[in-house]
Amino acid sequence: MDIAIIGAGAAAVALLDALDPSDIRSVTVFDPSPSPWRGRPYQPDLDSVLVNAPPEIMSIRHGDREHYARWLDGDAHAGAHTDERLGRPIPPRAVYGRYLVDTAEAALARFARTELVGAAVTGVSLAGRPVVRTADGRRHPADQVVLCVGGGVPRDGYGLAGAPGFVADPYPLRRTLAGVPPRKNVAVIGTGLTAVDIVASLAARGHAGRISMVSRSGTLPFVWQRPLPTDLRYLAPDRLRSLEGPVRLAEFTELIRMELAAHGESWDALAAWIAAAPGRDPAASLREQLAMVDAPRLGRRIVQEAAHTAGPVAWRLLAASDRERLRGRHFRTITSAASPMVPRNAALLLELFEAGTLEALSGVEKIEAGSAFEITHAAGVRTADIVINAVNPPPHAIPRAAEPLVSSLLAQGAVLDPDGGLAVDPGTGRVLVGGRPDHRLHVAGDLAGGGPFLVSGIPGVAAQASRAARSIGGVRSR
Ligand SMILES: Cc1cc2nc3c(=O)[nH]c(=O)nc-3n(C[C@H](O)[C@H](O)[C@H](O)COP(=O)(O)OP(=O)(O)OC[C@H]3O[C@@H](n4cnc5c(N)ncnc54)[C@H](O)[C@@H]3O)c2cc1C
Repeated sequence: MDIAIIGAGAAAVALLDALDPSDIRSVTVFDPSPSPWRGRPYQPDLDSVLVNAPPEIMSIRHGDREHYARWLDGDAHAGAHTDERLGRPIPPRAVYGRYLVDTAEAALARFARTELVGAAVTGVSLAGRPVVRTADGRRHPADQVVLCVGGGVPRDGYGLAGAPGFVADPYPLRRTLAGVPPRKNVAVIGTGLTAVDIVASLAARGHAGRISMVSRSGTLPFVWQRPLPTDLRYLAPDRLRSLEGPVRLAEFTELIRMELAAHGESWDALAAWIAAAPGRDPAASLREQLAMVDAPRLGRRIVQEAAHTAGPVAWRLLAASDRERLRGRHFRTITSAASPMVPRNAALLLELFEAGTLEALSGVEKIEAGSAFEITHAAGVRTADIVINAVNPPPHAIPRAAEPLVSSLLAQGAVLDPDGGLAVDPGTGRVLVGGRPDHRLHVAGDLAGGGPFLVSGIPGVAAQASRAARSIGGVRSR
C-alpha cells in the first residue's frame, strides 16, 4: 500500500508513529514548510514561547502518556525548563518541535520507502486510484491519503491588514517582535494563549512601553493547577458513548454535578466562580489562582480534563439548539477553563499588571488605523503605536494553504460539516464523499469536522491520528 500524508505537523508525526509498517510499501509526506514535523506552533522561536501543558498531556503517542516525558528525560537541557509552581517541565515550544522531529525520524526509519516532498498539495483526484497534485504540477498516485493540514491563522477582525505597525500573524515572535521598538505602546488584540505568548515575549525582550491586551470579553485563560488523577466516573468518555442522542445540556450538567459531588464538591459553586471570572480584576484573579496551583480540590481539574475527553463525545450527542447556546454564550469561558496558561506566565503577567506596564481592556468596539491606532473600548479610547493580532481562528477553520485542496474535494462530493471543517465519519475519520465514508481518504487534526468547539490540542490530534491508522490498516504493536 502507498500512503500520502498531506502536512508535516504534529498530526502527521502521530500518524507515522502509529502506523503498522507491515503492509505499507511507501509513505510520501507533503509540506512546503522549511522545518517539517514542527507544524505551525513548534517552529524555532524565542525561548519565551512555551508549551501550554505539562508532559503527560503532550505525548504524541496515543495511549502512551509517558512517551514525551521519556524523551525529555533524555534531553540534557530539559531540567532547565521546570515551571517551579507546576512542578513539571514546561520547555519552549521549539524544544517540543525537536521532540516531534526526533519522533518523526524514528518512525520514518521503520518504512521501506519514504519521501518528503517540499510542495503544497493543491488537490486530490478521487476518480479511480487517488492522485495527489502538488503546486509544482506533479502528480503522485497513492492508495490512502490522510489530510493533516492543521488549523487556520489569526483573523483580521478589525480590517487592519496593510496598516503600518499592524502585525497580522504573530508567529514566529522572534521575527515579528524584532521590529517593535522597546518604548512604543503596544496593543495585543485578544486575551487568549497567543496573547499571553506575545506579552511574555515582549517582557522577555525588556519592552518598556505600555502593553494593552484588548478584547471583547477581557477574559484571560485560567491558570494551570498541578495535575492530579481525576478518576472520572460519570463523565468517563466510554460511559457517555453508551448514551443515545440527542441529549439535552441539562442532562450533561447533571452528570457534571454528580461527578463533582462524588468528589465532595459543588458544581453550582464552581460554575458561579468560573462564570464570574470575566468580571474580576485580572491582577486579583491571577493572584487568587496562583495561590490555588497546589490546592487539592479536584473540581477545576475535572472540568478541564472532561472538556477535552468527554467534551467531544458529549458534543456529538447534544441537541443542535444546545450546541448553539454553548457556542454563542459560553465559548470564551469554556476555552479559558479548558486551556489554561502555565503558572510561570501567570506570575509574569501579574508582575506586569502590578507594575502598571500591562492592562487588559474589555468591550472593544473598534480599532482604527491612522497616525496611531485608536482603540475604542468599554471605558474610553486608547491609542497604540503597534497592534499585534492574537485573535484565534475558529475551530475547524480551513487553513489558507489548504483551501485549493479542500475545494478540489468539495467539487468531488465531500461536504463541509455545519460546525466547520470537512464532514467525516466520527468512528474512523474517513471523509464523507457523496454521503458515504471514503475508505481511501482520512483527516487527522482540526480540519476534521464534528468535534466540539475547542481547537484540538496534542492529545486530541494524537487520538485522531491513531483512529486514522486503525482505519487504514492497523496500529503497530509495541
Ligand atoms: C500557536 C499555537 C500553540 C499551540 N500550543 C499547544 C500546546 O502547547 N499544547 C497543545 O496540546 N496544543 C497546542 N496547540 C494546538 C495545536 O493545534 C496542536 O498542538 C498541533 O500543532 C496541531 O497539529 P497539526 O499537525 O494538526 O497542525 P500543524 O502543526 O499546524 O501542521 C499542519 C501542517 O500542514 C501543512 N499544510 C497545510 N496545508 C498544506 C497543503 N495544502 N499541502 C501541504 N502541507 C500543508 C502546514 O505547512 C503545517 O506544517 C497550539 C496551537 C497553536 C496555533
